[in-house]
Amino acid sequence: MSELLSNFVAGRWQAGTGAGTPLFDPVTGDELVRVDATGLDLPAAFAFARDTGGAALRSMTYGQRAELLVRIGTVLQAHRDAYYALSLANSGTVKNDTAVDVDGAMYTLAQYAKWGAALGERRFLLDGEAAKLSKEPLFQSQHVQVPTQGLALFINAFNFPAWGLWEKAAPALLSGVPVVVKPATATAWLTQRMVRDVVDAGILPPGALSIVCGSSVGLLDALQPFDVLSFTGSADTAALIRRHAAVAERSVRSNIEADSLNSALLLPGEAPGSEAFELLVKEVAREMTVKSGQKCTAIRRVLVPAELFGAVAEAVSARLARTTVGNPRHESVRMGALVSRAQKVAVLEGLAMLKTQAEVLHDGTHTGLVDADPERSCCVAPTLLGVRDADAAGLVHDHEVFGPISTLVAYRDLPHALALARRGQGSLVASLYGSDAGTLACTALALAASHGRVHVVSPDVAATHTGHGNVMPQSLHGGPGRAGGGEELGGLKALNFYHRRAALQAGSAVLGALG
Ligand code: NAP
Repeated sequence: MSELLSNFVAGRWQAGTGAGTPLFDPVTGDELVRVDATGLDLPAAFAFARDTGGAALRSMTYGQRAELLVRIGTVLQAHRDAYYALSLANSGTVKNDTAVDVDGAMYTLAQYAKWGAALGERRFLLDGEAAKLSKEPLFQSQHVQVPTQGLALFINAFNFPAWGLWEKAAPALLSGVPVVVKPATATAWLTQRMVRDVVDAGILPPGALSIVCGSSVGLLDALQPFDVLSFTGSADTAALIRRHAAVAERSVRSNIEADSLNSALLLPGEAPGSEAFELLVKEVAREMTVKSGQKCTAIRRVLVPAELFGAVAEAVSARLARTTVGNPRHESVRMGALVSRAQKVAVLEGLAMLKTQAEVLHDGTHTGLVDADPERSCCVAPTLLGVRDADAAGLVHDHEVFGPISTLVAYRDLPHALALARRGQGSLVASLYGSDAGTLACTALALAASHGRVHVVSPDVAATHTGHGNVMPQSLHGGPGRAGGGEELGGLKALNFYHRRAALQAGSAVLGALG
């Protein structure tokens, strides 16, 4: 039997008492390790995190906690090769895809360390200016933000086992809030290994970082009012979480990142061969293939003027045809596997569903795989679909297929394109491609209310823009409506989630003594 990975809770490594759930190599199908959380005393584990970890973290300044993030980054950097090997084995990723996850995690930690260092000796945050409450300015109201006195539970998705932990843990730990992470089972190995390395390095106080691998049973029941919960995953699980008593009755603050029908929009008037046209084509092909399309931010809908439908289809298809798919251990392979058999089944079913309303513009499913068995492996080559009558075909705006699948959608004019983008009912990101700064600015503002991020690609930023799907810690990550309504990252504003805001009403002498 394969190795059973341990959980780290209540300050010690504890193995589950069940048989365990196996994790697989999605290319070869080999069993790798098992995870199990049966028998853990979660209420006691959570109490230890709150009382021991939380108290120790809160006794430090923001500057001292920023230093902890620096040291975590150093440990992760030292083990980077091992993480690349684990990601290849358990997530089936090529090196470039692993970099998005692993190096993205380290970059985000480093950014928060830098921002935290600038907060220096502080132990709480002032929130705005004091406002006078009486005629004389003596009695005033000053809002403050103080670290919540609970824990942060992260229930994460399978697609970012490294970044998904650290993009949340960086602002939580910097805020002085202990972390309990429950990675998605399919790819939990990398998360568990990172936690193990950080625990072994003895950087964090006991109780500051815990990991539960395996079933989520009992996790939400153990939450208390001052805890916070950050969930990334499907809309169905998100709905269950919203209804759970911890959230519905105990007011546990929750942040939800769920499905998203992100779009890319080529503005009118950008002919084939123009820079904006070429930038869109390049970005669509890249977004479809990076991490085999398993990015919450990936472009699912490509909105183009009806008269350019054929030209875009041809150009994107030409790029996709050059993508070699298969075993990421092979030098020539540019795109690896989906993370699991369950995902392969879900993607192929979703593709079949979309095909009932769309034509196939580039069929990846018949492409030969390099060094991978089409039956045994979870490799799925990219497919570009097309919809010429966007108003009639509803599925493309409603059904997220979490793989290398995008749909080209024709629009009549810009108002029509905006209406189609909004049919995603709230998305993480839309990207715009054009050359007229005024039109791009108006379009970006018009989409801001229904998107967490609008990524504008004009020829002047062709070489420097950070990519439609790349989540940068400087920018908000989240989206309204069906994207979950969550907000993560976006600089120090992310700390608000881990703080409680309170108004202090007092005389100016007392407020002056706050420090
Ligand atoms: P999922 O089934 O909802 O799983 C997500 C996490 O929730 C996993 O850790 C899972 O554990 C756990 N979970 C499952 N059932 C639960 C329950 N009843 N109570 C508490 N936790 C539970 O989602 P998925 O299918 O693995 O993830 C893919 C989805 O995530 C995609 O639809 C994608 O849109 C979304 N996603 C969104 C973002 C974003 O930032 N917006 C990022 C990445 C992915 P197990 O793995 O043990 O079942």
